[in-house]
Amino acid sequence: MKFSQEKKEKILKALDAHKIKQICPECQGAILPMNLENSEQLLISFDRNGYSISISEGDIDFSPMAVITCPHCGYSKMFNLITLLGEEEALKA
Ligand SMILES: [Zn+2]
Repeated sequence: MKFSQEKKEKILKALDAHKIKQICPECQGAILPMNLENSEQLLISFDRNGYSISISEGDIDFSPMAVITCPHCGYSKMFNLITLLGEEEALKA
């Protein structure tokens, strides 16, 4: 799901409020700030049995994530939107 401009601004404001460094930890020579990706990413959880994943027709658990990516080397890190923005704001369409 694409972020609205309003939601992108709330995410960036929340990252700043939590003092999240937006400079890449991998290629610290890069002076460009990391970029917030335009779309929400879903971290999906499947039931598993040993090394087998069970894909059922039922509900699938997920965590909504914001991803920021280094424009220099591509290193990415993600933040759980429920933790960052609160459940109501995070799950708002
Ligand atoms: Zn980098």
